[in-house]
Amino acid sequence: MLSNTDIQEILQALDLDQMNAGSSDGTDWIGHGKRLSVTSPVNDTVIAEVILAGKQDYEQVVNAAEQAFYSWRSTPSPKRGEIIRQLGQELRLSKNKLARLITLEMGKSIQESLGEVQEMIDICDFACGLSRQLYGVQTHSERPYHRMFEQWHPLGIVGVITAFNFPTAVWAWNLTIALICGNVVVWKPASKTPLTAIVCQNIFGRVLKKNELNPAISTLVTGSGSEIGELLNNDPRINLVSYTGSTETGKHIAKTVASRLGKTILELGGNNGVIVTPKANLDLAAENIFFGAIGTAGQRCTTTRRIIIEQGLSQAMLDKLLTYYQNLRIGNPFDDNNLMGPVVSGQTVEIMMQALSSIEEQGGHILYGGKQLSGDDYPGSCYVTPAIVKAPVHLPLIQKETFVPILYVLEYQDSLQEAINIHNNVPQGLSSAIFTNDLLEAETFLSALGSDCGIANVNLGTSGAEIGLAFGGEKETGGGRESGSDAWKSYMRRQSNTVNWSGSTMLAQGIQFEQ
Ligand code: NAD
Repeated sequence: MLSNTDIQEILQALDLDQMNAGSSDGTDWIGHGKRLSVTSPVNDTVIAEVILAGKQDYEQVVNAAEQAFYSWRSTPSPKRGEIIRQLGQELRLSKNKLARLITLEMGKSIQESLGEVQEMIDICDFACGLSRQLYGVQTHSERPYHRMFEQWHPLGIVGVITAFNFPTAVWAWNLTIALICGNVVVWKPASKTPLTAIVCQNIFGRVLKKNELNPAISTLVTGSGSEIGELLNNDPRINLVSYTGSTETGKHIAKTVASRLGKTILELGGNNGVIVTPKANLDLAAENIFFGAIGTAGQRCTTTRRIIIEQGLSQAMLDKLLTYYQNLRIGNPFDDNNLMGPVVSGQTVEIMMQALSSIEEQGGHILYGGKQLSGDDYPGSCYVTPAIVKAPVHLPLIQKETFVPILYVLEYQDSLQEAINIHNNVPQGLSSAIFTNDLLEAETFLSALGSDCGIANVNLGTSGAEIGLAFGGEKETGGGRESGSDAWKSYMRRQSNTVNWSGSTMLAQGIQFEQ
């Protein structure tokens, strides 16, 4: 099990104390706000305390960030990339220690926490290469001896607001790309995971110190959404708010930041579906759906929440899934044998139980799971059996992202178009997948007639994206894109330039304007 000594070892290995200031302007650790007790869902114990930011701490952090921008913006981008390369090296050295803290603080399995840190390392490698590839286009002018081109400049301060479920990777996705683009970052982590944020700030701080850079290019301000989050939303010095979290809060942030004509990147809730057709390899589909539904105890934005399966295959799929679910090892997430740890809090357990009782009232049928677990194998009160629910396609609750491990099995009668219609008939549009070996079905799903999501996969599940492509979703998922491909453009401002080297005045469109 997890003893107090184990917990102390995890904290001490990362220089955390029992009481920690939660904010940093890069140089000093500060905090004049309330105290927050951080409780581990692994065993329900308070593992440390964090002093949250007050308004004066927020001001100190943003002022320092603003100053740091003035020097960082003129550091050549490949040099900025080199700093991010070094961050990747530091993360490699801290991988195991940091992964253990992620598991302790929010409960995902140790394998998944190691994967999360690996994702941070991957994005560092990507951003380092990208720092030499911030290309702008050049085109031909209609006027002789004129040159036209576009260039990209940094925005300024990027406020990064993150969710509890990827407490470090989402920061790294934003930080690395924002920084190589020449911005500085103010990070507000989720209140459930301030300790991992403090450690990340320290890890990067070591790199900045070694390179004698202004440490305020990366700062941290820890506090509630209603206090510190609102300061960020309303602050005209924050040029871009990159927000990852629920759709409800995202809508509010979108409105608030838009009212001051600031920019946002919104990475909001998902309601991810998998279509399984008669041309699918059912074993492959079941295996992928299992990971998609269970990973991070159903608390990934890309978690598989709905299967849309041809009626005749439904029972065969359920039999396979039930075998997986019945044999699923749930328990202490530090034990490599367990594939699923606790959900993040007692409140999440309640949300799950309430959702399951609404599902039954609305005509759904719980086929498996949905029980809170207790006993010697479960060191805390946040362990549950994931649920499989057979539901009519119009069950109202299916329209919502319930951020717990509930998988809905929905049936379609015959055509792929019917399956796609059911699939797209939810407000969210993050990740999607089809299982089929039929080329026409696969291409239809990927076409404009198919999935309406930001991510659409063939023969692999909805969760577990790599960093190389842009990540994000449509509709109520917010439309933002982060990570790979050309997502960097959201962190920069575009400038269109024309240079006249003719020595004479020539107006566009042939306009004559002579005295
Ligand atoms: P949440 O919305 O409760 O909190 C997210 C962050 O927003 C936290 O840091 C919180 O303090 C902050 N916040 C709350 N109110 C705010 C306000 N008024 N102004 C500014 N910030 C505010 O979400 P959560 O429970 O931490 O995470 C789960 C949600 O995040 C799910 O909906 C999940 O789908 C979503 N998510 C989306 C992605 C994605 O990339 N699309 C990735 C991870 C998580």
